[in-house]
Amino acid sequence: TNILAFESSADETSAAIVQDGNKVLSNSVATQINSHKRFGGIVPEVASRHHIEWITRVLDDALDQAKMTMDDIDAVAVTYGPGLVGSLLVGLMSAKTVAMVHDLPLIPVNHLAGHIAAANFNQPIQYPALALMVSGGHTELVLMPKENQFEVLGETRDDAAGESFDKVGRLLGLNYPAGKTIDEMAHRGQTNIKFPTAMAREDNLDFSFSGLKSAVINHVHHAEQVGESINQDDLAASFQKAVVDALIGRTKKALAAYPVKSFVLAGGVAANMGLREALDDLLSKSFPKVTYIPVPREYTGDNAAMIGAAGYWNYKDGIFADLSLNTDPGLDFDLI
Ligand code: ATP
Ligand code: MG
Ligand code: FE
Repeated sequence: TNILAFESSADETSAAIVQDGNKVLSNSVATQINSHKRFGGIVPEVASRHHIEWITRVLDDALDQAKMTMDDIDAVAVTYGPGLVGSLLVGLMSAKTVAMVHDLPLIPVNHLAGHIAAANFNQPIQYPALALMVSGGHTELVLMPKENQFEVLGETRDDAAGESFDKVGRLLGLNYPAGKTIDEMAHRGQTNIKFPTAMAREDNLDFSFSGLKSAVINHVHHAEQVGESINQDDLAASFQKAVVDALIGRTKKALAAYPVKSFVLAGGVAANMGLREALDDLLSKSFPKVTYIPVPREYTGDNAAMIGAAGYWNYKDGIFADLSLNTDPGLDFDLI
């Protein structure tokens, strides 16, 4: 089954062709980072225009890369939420148009399910599974009793993990989005500054990163006031360690409470080398029977291949939409 997928929820315009949910035949991604950099974040109006400009190009490119025509496609999958409404609309309209013109079934896909489904590009997820979904807008521990079933065990009460990287990056004068740069700086630095580990004491599976962000801001301001210089690499390393410790702490608790066969690391922040290594360590030492399945790094950021993977789950479950499908900017999984 060949699924043509579209993704346009934030600042990446992407089209991909995925076979049977796990073989990426093509994945064309146009990023707009350069247009948003100078604003320090995504400007919705600018994003929509970029999507309009790029969506047919990434579609043509995806077909070319896969050496296919629309005759080879069996269904069209598209992200309908969560995300920016004006951005989501571009992918949705394109998917509807293609589905209508070529008389193909339309599959609605939750962007977050897409991030998680990309783990299948590493190896097949075994169920029950636990997923740590860490991205620019979300930080969640998600239990998957079966394929395509999602129950949120814990989530962030304030900033998302990726958002905290981006905000600290802004403080350090780094370009948006700053996660990748901080990761590289952290690799060079020493973890010699003590920051509070977010929500360490509370007895639940929720996260909070705003306190950590404030602690970093205070540290920088204090150093400025007393005229002390700051080693930015050390600050990055110490901040990243505090984020990773918080994510590891909650993951450990969840793995102890919910016996699962596999553990998935997904979302943009899943690219973080410190996090990938710390989880590898946690799983091999404390949960050796749980298979660790991080999303391959090239598929951690927003891309349409992951939407093709989650689209295949819906395809198998008979979840289709008609042309009345609308965007759902606040879409999320259900909390339990
Ligand atoms: P959501 O998926 O919640 O709707 P989004 O799609 O905007 O939000 P993603 O594209 O999945 O978010 O992830 C982007 C985030 O990942 C940014 O905050 C970015 O800084 C962060 N990020 C990317 N690479 C790394 C890295 N190596 N270390 C830490 N964070 C990273
Ligand atoms: Mg993005
Ligand atoms: Fe995303």
